[in-house]
Amino acid sequence: MAKVRRLTPQHPEMFRARVVRTERASPSMQRVTVTGPRLDAFPWLGYDHWFRLFFPLAHQRGLRLPQFTGSQWWQPYLAIPEEERPHCANYSVADYRRRTAELDIDFVVHRGPTGEIEGRAAVWACGARPGDALALLDQGVLFDCPQDASEVTVVADETGLPAAASIMRSLPEGTRGRLIQEIPTDGDRRALQAPPGVTVSWVVRQDGASVPGAGALRELHRLTRADATGYAFVVGESTLAAEGRRHLHRLGLPKERITFSGFWKHEALAAA
Ligand SMILES: Cc1cc2nc3c(=O)[nH]c(=O)nc-3n(C[C@H](O)[C@H](O)[C@H](O)COP(=O)(O)OP(=O)(O)OC[C@H]3O[C@@H](n4cnc5c(N)ncnc54)[C@H](O)[C@@H]3O)c2cc1C
Repeated sequence: MAKVRRLTPQHPEMFRARVVRTERASPSMQRVTVTGPRLDAFPWLGYDHWFRLFFPLAHQRGLRLPQFTGSQWWQPYLAIPEEERPHCANYSVADYRRRTAELDIDFVVHRGPTGEIEGRAAVWACGARPGDALALLDQGVLFDCPQDASEVTVVADETGLPAAASIMRSLPEGTRGRLIQEIPTDGDRRALQAPPGVTVSWVVRQDGASVPGAGALRELHRLTRADATGYAFVVGESTLAAEGRRHLHRLGLPKERITFSGFWKHEALAAA
């Protein structure tokens, strides 16, 4: 198994960009394709390469970005007066084409109790028009598979689908393992380029009211053994990430062989 070095750039680079086109890639996924003057130099590593996305809020005319050197962007960001501060959210590279300097971002379209699109990034993505300004701050990859990993387990809800799909494409051909991928509807399945030794289990949320991630966690709980020399990557709603890690560790996978990340927190759980 090829070693993937954990890479959080010491001097993360900001890339200004603009929207090229948008499409509803599947019922719950809005794809926004962007390009930029230097985006052909984006240091794409495949796997779950992610970035911080900056875009102006509806009342803002321009995109004002934090000025920073080194890796300390947060304080300069907060120093921008609130009425001019762009929104910032975390996203994965769904795909990247260096030749055309194009990068795809897949936004989960999630809705509130009355059916309206909620979440500032999803609202932005669904209303984005060609030419709209944005910026990407490169954050590298979290996927950190040890060289000797005997199997790879990837578990994700829909927010982790762009990362999981890219991980599947990036894994060496001889990789053995499994992907457990939860999606909101059957129409959100997509063709994946996974190595032949990796089984893919789609978990379609039957009950629209259930908390995202619960189905993937149920499927993971059906796993009764894990190679102590394997590696796992568990991302999505924070309960899926935390409980998924706990289960895999209980099965004997050492904690240092599990990368887990709460990509977001469900409101009801956040309030509990
Ligand atoms: C490393 C990393 C990579 C990520 N990659 C992606 C990606 O490629 N695509 C993607 O769609 N997301 C991705 N996410 C998750 C994304 O950052 C969050 O969903 C985030 O909350 C969206 O930002 P926002 O500003 O719209 O949220 P906010 O405006 O802060 O969210 C508002 C409300 O929406 C709720 N909410 C947020 N996301 C969801 C959801 N998916 N379903 C239901 N309710 C939700 C929150 O609980 C909150 O109550 C990633 C997160 C991380 C950490």
